[in-house]
Amino acid sequence: MKADNGITAQDGPKRGYVYLVGAGPGDPELLTLKAARVLQEADVILYDDLVSSDLVAQFSAEKIYTGKRKDSHHFEQDEINAEILRHVRDGKVVARLKGGDPFIFGRGGEEIAVLRESGVGYEIVPGITAAHGASAYAEIPLTIRKVSSSVAFCTGHPVSKIEVPNTDTIVFYMVASTVHEVLDAVALKGRSEETPVAIVQNATRYNQKIITGTLGELRLREREVYSPALLIVGESIRHSVADNWYSKKRKILVAGCDSRLSCPGDADEVHFPCKRVDGADHDRVRQAVEHLEQWSALLFSDELAVAYFFRYLMECGKDVRHLGKCLVYAAGSGVARALKRQGVVADRELSGEPYGDIAELLEVNGISGTTILHPTSTIGDDEAESPLASCGNVVTPLSVYAFERAANEEPLDIDFIDEIYFSSPSCVRNFRIAYSAIPGNITVTTANQTTQDEYLKLFGNVASPQS
Ligand code: SAH
Repeated sequence: MKADNGITAQDGPKRGYVYLVGAGPGDPELLTLKAARVLQEADVILYDDLVSSDLVAQFSAEKIYTGKRKDSHHFEQDEINAEILRHVRDGKVVARLKGGDPFIFGRGGEEIAVLRESGVGYEIVPGITAAHGASAYAEIPLTIRKVSSSVAFCTGHPVSKIEVPNTDTIVFYMVASTVHEVLDAVALKGRSEETPVAIVQNATRYNQKIITGTLGELRLREREVYSPALLIVGESIRHSVADNWYSKKRKILVAGCDSRLSCPGDADEVHFPCKRVDGADHDRVRQAVEHLEQWSALLFSDELAVAYFFRYLMECGKDVRHLGKCLVYAAGSGVARALKRQGVVADRELSGEPYGDIAELLEVNGISGTTILHPTSTIGDDEAESPLASCGNVVTPLSVYAFERAANEEPLDIDFIDEIYFSSPSCVRNFRIAYSAIPGNITVTTANQTTQDEYLKLFGNVASPQS
């Protein structure tokens, strides 16, 4: 395969290679298929402020946050460039992940110039820019026949760089603290005070907020900081509706690792921001790894458990050959793929809800009379302490990683949440660390009775079991 930049790349993972990737505006599903593929392939992901942590959490690469949230090191552009080159020279596949599209106000051009100069192989994967995300999720067409036939993307920052072109629609980026200066500049350019304008904050995210009015009205509003936000100016805004399709979706906060929980079509999933950490009981893991012959099968029900389990196997000086006669069960195709990356073809791919009840998963798949080791994340769940017996199976959970709130995580905007779903008792406990109460207007659902009991214990309310 010959990449556009003249570097001949081999099929399969490339060594010492950089992908400059657009992550889209927020909703993790707005990632392109190609971006998802290269992020899977990457050894290191360097990601910016506007990239959702929910999105990067899906990939097993080492993650380096280069943004400006508090409690984290602030990277200057030169440092980012140096960091990319350092990893690439170590033979790593580096994904440089940027919000929206890397070439729209993303400094992608500067980063690529450095790569060109240093002779490093690279590819560019475009992303959905914030203007397109906001336009779709706020239902504001950027062009409309006979109303608006041209559109420009401009910057609202710094104030000295504000330009107002003569296009029918103008989308201003980076207006967090300069909305008024931009509105004044638009008025100064001679646009009527009646021109419709819209501020779209947190476009495509569960906490998307839209403020509309005329140019005159918004100029009179109190100054406020909107971040991240776009300002859209133009007649096509008259063709939007207040109850747009995205505002009508129920926003469900999923506390737990059920990233693939199937949601009804009218709902949108938000994930409780938790970081996966090395939370294993190392002695227990080592003992289990040293004596794998005690079990007839290994069951993996999530991809991170695969990554962590094999890491410990290696740390114990072993590799896939030491799985010996253990059968390997994968719950779902994603887990089966994760196993393949470790050099293991699963003996069986189990169907059913991988994050649901393990006893049920085994029953549905007709597995009985087996001793099973189940590397998982159950962070001190009561179930993790003792083996689970079901259908004549004895399942020993082994905690190989844990969840923890990350220090640099963006805070949750609980006001935008309609429902909270807890997938296990530990998720209730995790949530309780961050929130002592749940507002009464929020519906709470739980995956099963034990989770419901834990919720009752910690929050003192009755939750509805999942329907
Ligand atoms: N490369 C990005 C833009 C980076 S500049 C892209 O193509 O979208 C950062 C600006 O993008 C923010 O100040 C804001 O104006 C805009 N932006 C990014 N994500 C946004 C979002 N979810 N909602 C509204 N504006 C967003």
